[in-house]
Amino acid sequence: MSITAIKGFNDLLPAESGLWQFIEDTARRVFSSFGFNEIRVPIVEKTELFCRSIGDTTDIVEKEMYTFTDKAGSSLTLRPEGTAGVIRALVERKLYAQESINKLYYMGPMFRHERPQKGRYRQFHQIGAEVTGAADPMIDAQLLLMVSRLFSELGLKEPTLQINSLGCPVCRPGYREALVNFLDERRDKLCEDCRRRISSNPLRALDCKVPGCVEATEGAPSMIGHLCTECDEHFKKVQSYLETAAVSFSINPRMVRGLDYYTRTTFELVTGLLGAQSAVAAGGRYDGLIEQLGGPSVPGIGFALGVERVALLLGDRCFERTPDLFIAIMGDASRSEAFRLMAALQHQGFWVESDYEGKSLKGQLRRADKLKARYSIVLGETELTSGKASLKLMADGSQQIIELLPELIAAAIKGE
Ligand code: ATP
Ligand code: MG
Repeated sequence: MSITAIKGFNDLLPAESGLWQFIEDTARRVFSSFGFNEIRVPIVEKTELFCRSIGDTTDIVEKEMYTFTDKAGSSLTLRPEGTAGVIRALVERKLYAQESINKLYYMGPMFRHERPQKGRYRQFHQIGAEVTGAADPMIDAQLLLMVSRLFSELGLKEPTLQINSLGCPVCRPGYREALVNFLDERRDKLCEDCRRRISSNPLRALDCKVPGCVEATEGAPSMIGHLCTECDEHFKKVQSYLETAAVSFSINPRMVRGLDYYTRTTFELVTGLLGAQSAVAAGGRYDGLIEQLGGPSVPGIGFALGVERVALLLGDRCFERTPDLFIAIMGDASRSEAFRLMAALQHQGFWVESDYEGKSLKGQLRRADKLKARYSIVLGETELTSGKASLKLMADGSQQIIELLPELIAAAIKGE
């Protein structure tokens, strides 16, 4: 029996890779115009890194991590998200000492043991960005502007931006208490997970998808109503910057994020087009995280988008690449001439195909059609003797006689 891939782990086939490259290239271009540089960190980290940063009582750490013991007996985990590793590197390599503000981006696979379905996989890919060293609300707005620029450059109207504030260590405890009291009064209506969350992680109850819990938590107190003066001011300034930059958003006071490190501004980009997988990108401020991971007390903010979900939104866009020229060969003598022309044109960046299978002329031209080559040339004895051939534009069949010189062929097939 042949070996299959692991459930929830996908192959990205050539038919889809053009779309992925478009997403990645657009992100690189937009991010670098906002002054971000790429960082690449390991896919595997010590398990403790994720427990300490994401939080022991989150779904990710409780249920979703791929954790294993290696041959030396260390507990290692396939990264479920990108921020923890990036901040670990920032602290370990003391990037904060070289630059007071670091703007970093990353892209790559993440791993979560979830139930696979459309838009939800066990290996999935994120593109994310982090800014460390600045608490100013202008940075929050810059990051959100960059995210919204990225989606508009991708040509997407969906998803839309929702923002919230999760407060800070000054105001969160008071809110937490109010929420615990509210949830306690409705304990009987909550699912088992949420009953447990009342004491472990009450904010997560607001994110529960169980219909009973959604209903029971309607009218729950919101964090925004409990913000301290500083957090309230910060949140208002973020909104005013977004308005200045004409970034449209709505406030979602029920939005809590699935990771414990968030403070103040949090956000999601949501769509109605992907069913239960409504979050396309998400992020927020994590002002305590860097210190928590052994670094200095500097603030940070970041976001990540799910590449698979963005690809689903872009779905029907065509990124098929086609050869510039197909050289059909008649007879052995023309084979080496075809090879010479091909090599010279490839050197100039053209995609040139020819026959590698000894097909009949008819078979070769069928292949040129199938590949959707823009131009074709047939090289036979007559062409070799005269040093000229007919260059055919495949779209309309029009032909021109051309000398078999790479510069002339290049000029003829260029840029159409
Ligand atoms: P969800 O609510 O859908 O589980 P999340 O809150 O767990 O998402 P984050 O941890 O914020 O997601 O990750 C950021 C983005 O990564 C998400 O908005 C989504 O696009 C993508 N993502 C997260 N988990 C998966 C997954 N299992 N498969 C595919 N994409 C995912
Ligand atoms: Mg999740």
